[in-house]
Amino acid sequence: LVLAKGGHMAQTLCQWSAAEINLPTPGAVHCHHAGTSQSCLLSTLSDCEPSTSPLVTAPGAQVHDQQTADADAAWDCYQLKINHRTVGALKICWRPIVTAEHSIEETTIQTLVEQISITIHRLQLLQKLQSESLQDPLTKLFNRRYMMSMLDKLLQRVSYGHYQVGLIMMDIDHFKQLNDTFGHDAGDQVLRVIGLFFKGHARPNDVMCRYGGEEFALILPEITWEVLERRANQLCRAVKYLSLNFHQDSLHITLSAGYAIAPTHGTTSATLMKAADQALYVAKRAGRDRAV
Ligand code: GH3
Ligand code: MG
Ligand code: MG
Repeated sequence: LVLAKGGHMAQTLCQWSAAEINLPTPGAVHCHHAGTSQSCLLSTLSDCEPSTSPLVTAPGAQVHDQQTADADAAWDCYQLKINHRTVGALKICWRPIVTAEHSIEETTIQTLVEQISITIHRLQLLQKLQSESLQDPLTKLFNRRYMMSMLDKLLQRVSYGHYQVGLIMMDIDHFKQLNDTFGHDAGDQVLRVIGLFFKGHARPNDVMCRYGGEEFALILPEITWEVLERRANQLCRAVKYLSLNFHQDSLHITLSAGYAIAPTHGTTSATLMKAADQALYVAKRAGRDRAV
């Protein structure tokens, strides 16, 4: 079972066979389409552009494996489609010894193809829904719900030993003024760019979230106080020098940040967030554009 991916890639999803079967690899297979001289790439099957790609499918189209061991085996490829969109291909290897004993009707295969297509489509929808429920649509950062559940999970480890978790709460300075001066669309664009910048800044274990409005939170698992301090200061400094353009306008923003570390400043998400929030408040009161 082959899954269609973007571009010209395809991924072998699974394979059912009692015996070892040499799957046709791209470039090792020559494809024949029943009743047509056309062949096409899996990724462009719906357009059916001429191609010599192996992942060809049309009901009844036969694919002969040229280089793999099973010279007598023939491959049938079936296009898995939902709403005229190709989601994959089912390739069936027919071995003479099996086909002589069992005859499988075309309608049985077609039912199988439909069921697999529907299942793949449902799984893709589920995956999309799951990722959307964790993500903020504007900035593509994790949302507050995900942040809270991650923080709770990470803080459970704190009680086990020398494990420390850092939290940086950040708030864009005078963002209302930016909206009022340049418009809400400019504000949205700034949030989008900030989201991208934060994503680029994040290390592999970091959890970067949009906490709400123009507020962001960064969870830093397994960190020391010195590194946390450095990261918070770096973020403020980098945002200050970000080059932001909206139409003809060049926009400048600054960030205030408050940071705290578990277990020193709190061992629950509520106490740690309160400590980081209080530090953020101090940063605002002290003139903004700084980390405290
Ligand atoms: P401070 O330095 O004290 O944080 O001032 P501020 O103006 O940033 O804070 P305030 O809480 O007064 O205003 C936040 C503004 O952020 C108000 C709100 O309209 C704006 N905002 C919140 N979410 C969005 C959004 O998704 N898009 C846009 N464009 N603006 C947003
Ligand atoms: Mg705010
Ligand atoms: Mg603000």
